[in-house]
Amino acid sequence: MKKIIIIKYGELSTKKDNINFFLKALKQNVSNSLGNIKHTISYDFGRMFVDVLEDDINIALDRIKNVFGIHEVIIGYKDANIDIEVIKENVLNLVKDKDFKTFKVLTKRSDKNYPIKSMDVSKMVGGYILKNISNIKVDVHNPELLIEIEIRKDEVLYYFNGIPGLGGYPVGTLGKGLLMLSGGIDSPVAGYLAIKRGVKIEAIYFESPPHTSEAAKNKVIKLARTLAKYNTTVKLHVINFTKIQETILRNIPHEYLITIMRRMMYRISAIIAHNNKCNILINGESIGQVASQTLTSMRVINSVIKMPVIRPVACFDKLEIIDLAKKIGTYEISTLPYEDCCTIFVPDHPVINPSSIKAQEYEELIPYKELIHEAIKGHEVISVGIKEDKEYEDIL
Ligand code: ATP
Ligand code: MG
Repeated sequence: MKKIIIIKYGELSTKKDNINFFLKALKQNVSNSLGNIKHTISYDFGRMFVDVLEDDINIALDRIKNVFGIHEVIIGYKDANIDIEVIKENVLNLVKDKDFKTFKVLTKRSDKNYPIKSMDVSKMVGGYILKNISNIKVDVHNPELLIEIEIRKDEVLYYFNGIPGLGGYPVGTLGKGLLMLSGGIDSPVAGYLAIKRGVKIEAIYFESPPHTSEAAKNKVIKLARTLAKYNTTVKLHVINFTKIQETILRNIPHEYLITIMRRMMYRISAIIAHNNKCNILINGESIGQVASQTLTSMRVINSVIKMPVIRPVACFDKLEIIDLAKKIGTYEISTLPYEDCCTIFVPDHPVINPSSIKAQEYEELIPYKELIHEAIKGHEVISVGIKEDKEYEDIL
């Protein structure tokens, strides 16, 4: 018997016509997640198998758990002998040292030509185990140990209680999106949810030195690195926003500062997205959270671009967002105490129901197109993620 990692697909199996495309992507993403761990991957429409050295199997499992498009991941055993007597003996050997009081055997035959029906295989194996191990019994509803047997064409798989995967689609199968990534709690969660649906993300961060610090930027890089666990790598576009913000602050009535500032962010983001083949923008806006996220504000801000904007946390409560941030490992980074470029320019009374016409009139007061052009020309790109870590694998 050979120890092997087994991947079950879940929602992916509903992709009838182009399942091959999705599986190929999943294979690539699993391979990327394994990085420097030596591995071979094979798959069919039912299962994917990852073969690594026995010493690497737990760390490999840990990495694969973060790959989207997986329903369940399990360390199991594969054997080429499909004889029922061998199956009985193999199962007994695998479970005899495990600690359990109740169990159930569940058999699947993907090879329907196998001469014994699934139910009968389960009964025969179950009976054999009961005969050879004392003080245990069968519990079909809530067994402590679920023994699964899969009889395939020329092999049998054995496995026990699997680990749930993250679900979703393999990253990249739905194209690319640009995440507006601030140092807050919401935007990393929004990015995670988009990645989960198969969107590969790049990120954009607006900084305003010296009003924002190097530490604030490092915090965003850290967040990008955490998202890279799910996305493989994150290309982070950093835009120097200082001149635009200072110009807005000097020339525009203060109740419209945030509205205009966000319209500028949207314009720049849409251009960077377009230049990098991203189809959509993604951000962490949540309905009603602050003045710039009322429905009227969203409309006035969104109206300056044609590109679709996806807001994965728009309808989440803050507490729901925080829960998810904790689960995905971004909460602790997001709550580090560094200012970001929005918070330092917050006026006392931001407009709650801005008007598009007024916003346009105010923008005419500044040479915004030139400012945008200049900001984009000077933009910096930082690549973070597994690939980057690979270069330092002897140290990290
Ligand atoms: P918080 O968790 O405190 O709400 P936030 O990042 O959501 O933080 P908001 O002011 O609510 O901050 O901004 C709404 C959205 O706009 C963010 O989720 C993010 O997508 C985008 N955004 C805000 N500031 C920046 C920035 N400096 N760079 C890139 N995107 C930003
Ligand atoms: Mg927010």
